[in-house]
Amino acid sequence: FVFFSSDIEISRAQSPKAVDVLAKEIGLLTDEIEIYGQTKAKVRLSLLERLKDQPDGKYVLVAGITPTPLGEGKSTVTVGLVQALTAHLNINSFACLRQPSQGPTFGVKGGAAGGGYAQVIPMEEFNLHLTGDIHAITAANNLLAAAIDARILHENTQSDKSLYNRLVPVVNGMRGFSAIQLARLRRLGINKTDPETLTEEEISKFVRLDIDPSTITWQRVVDTNDRFLRKVTVGQANTEKGFVRQAQFDIAVASEIMAILALTTSLQDMKERLGKMVVANDKKGEPVTAEDLGVTGALAVLMKDAIKPTLMQTLEGTPVFVHAGPFANIAHGNSSVLADKIALKLVGEKGFVVTEAGFGADIGMEKFFNIKCRASGLVPSVVVLVATVRALKMHGGGPNVTAGAPLKKEYTEENLQLVADGCCNLQKQIQITQLFGVPVVVALNVFKTDSPAEVDLVCKMAKESGAFDAVPCNHWSAGGRGAVKLAQAVEKAANQKNSFKYLYSLELPIVEKIRIIAQKVYGAQDIELSPTAQSQVDRYTQQGFGNLPICMAKTHLSLSHQPERKGVPTGFILPISDVRASIGAGFIYPLVGTMSTMPGLPTRPCFYDIDLDPITEQVKGLF
Ligand code: ADP
Repeated sequence: FVFFSSDIEISRAQSPKAVDVLAKEIGLLTDEIEIYGQTKAKVRLSLLERLKDQPDGKYVLVAGITPTPLGEGKSTVTVGLVQALTAHLNINSFACLRQPSQGPTFGVKGGAAGGGYAQVIPMEEFNLHLTGDIHAITAANNLLAAAIDARILHENTQSDKSLYNRLVPVVNGMRGFSAIQLARLRRLGINKTDPETLTEEEISKFVRLDIDPSTITWQRVVDTNDRFLRKVTVGQANTEKGFVRQAQFDIAVASEIMAILALTTSLQDMKERLGKMVVANDKKGEPVTAEDLGVTGALAVLMKDAIKPTLMQTLEGTPVFVHAGPFANIAHGNSSVLADKIALKLVGEKGFVVTEAGFGADIGMEKFFNIKCRASGLVPSVVVLVATVRALKMHGGGPNVTAGAPLKKEYTEENLQLVADGCCNLQKQIQITQLFGVPVVVALNVFKTDSPAEVDLVCKMAKESGAFDAVPCNHWSAGGRGAVKLAQAVEKAANQKNSFKYLYSLELPIVEKIRIIAQKVYGAQDIELSPTAQSQVDRYTQQGFGNLPICMAKTHLSLSHQPERKGVPTGFILPISDVRASIGAGFIYPLVGTMSTMPGLPTRPCFYDIDLDPITEQVKGLF
């Protein structure tokens, strides 16, 4: 091993095996994979049908304490753990990871392939376009956005009859309604199938969705940290005169379509969810859906390949699925239900599937349990909670940690007091995990600057706080070999009694569910809804969407809504500034404080370091 090489150098030093060889090793049939280049393949969903009688393996979630802006190594632990299980303990295992967004890759945090000797390779393939899923989501999302504005324009510039003539297609020389249109007619109470028999009144009812532009909640997306798109004005050309409106771009991975990709269980289910997405209200206050706009089929076509998980491998040649997207702060930020389900079948009853929930357990893990596990019906056996000495020192009162700036001496020299003071955050995150009744193993991700006394202190405090076990991990510097103790602890914990439960019942009113998360998980005294948030809650409840789980959009840098409040903040009132609804994905989406759904670039972004060697075609500077 060449210690302390960069992540990309380590990745490149290892030649991955051909993906068809990997596929064969894990028992896939030739016609169950679609190969993209030499190191990536999409896996067909038919596999689930073939393996449906196979028992599931054990399901492990990797979560973390409240991180520094640098990330504390959850992806690295996820990869290190499967390397240890498969390559060192001979237990079948699979890692299910999320595809990184280009926002952080070129912005602050870098990629998400793991790091050091615990990585998915080739890391540049993983971190850049992969197999195009994010592009597919962007295309589908923006087609729908374009459909909304175009429909408003056309409805307002054409007569009923002219709209009708254009909307009802001519099939075999006869005018006929499409399946989507027939469904809409039925919803409008018009039980006719022959276009010629509609009355004038029925025609105008049918052709006008009457979208109220001020209620549009569907935004355009792009997978770049482009802060100047946080607020835009659309419709400024002469050809759209009179239809100017304020709009915004979100980062692509925050699209509801990404959440649907993560939560869906089949092609049929994905299509239904895409059709159910609510994009606005009509002038009577009724929800307008993608289905009403006639776009469901086209969206499903754009997403038909994205629904298949992508197979890759770790540095030690063990299998990995990459599927769905990150951002547990502004999205639900978990990898896909489909990848987990397929992997659980492939590893067999004695095997392990390790997946990751973004950021601290207060957000990523809470959403994993309350949203993702509800959608999949799967029950996790163990939670691995990743901690680092540096993040604990920050929680204990250490100076700010900023991406791109060298770490201050508090972080590079032994300081037991700061570690001891910061363990309150670890303790709180352990308690949050225990609310869900799943055993928790703390993985202390060791950095070269951590002293043995600091490492011992964290492990001791973790066990005193109720963790089933707590172990130091050296997979970053030593690969799977450095995570063998963690793998053994996880194996033991998986045999413990598991009393998994959700945190709240879906039948509770929306505000009550938000309050339970705020008080029990974040430690807030109470919540406070802005008038906009309250009226949205009232509207969604009245529209019949009150029984959905909650996906909070909250900063990942604190248990509270204020990123600068470290440790375990208390006594705060959590401000809910707005509430949106993702009906297709199946959750209500409250925005806490000033959360933005489009990150920005810092003064010195990662892209400064990224380069291409035109001779060797090698990518440099990704990490
Ligand atoms: P997370 O998934 O929690 O955001 P990552 O696993 O992506 O964190 O790790 C964040 C960064 O820190 C990566 O660049 C990784 O290489 C680096 N890193 C993780 N663990 C260590 C370690 N033990 N020593 C040095 N660098 C590390």
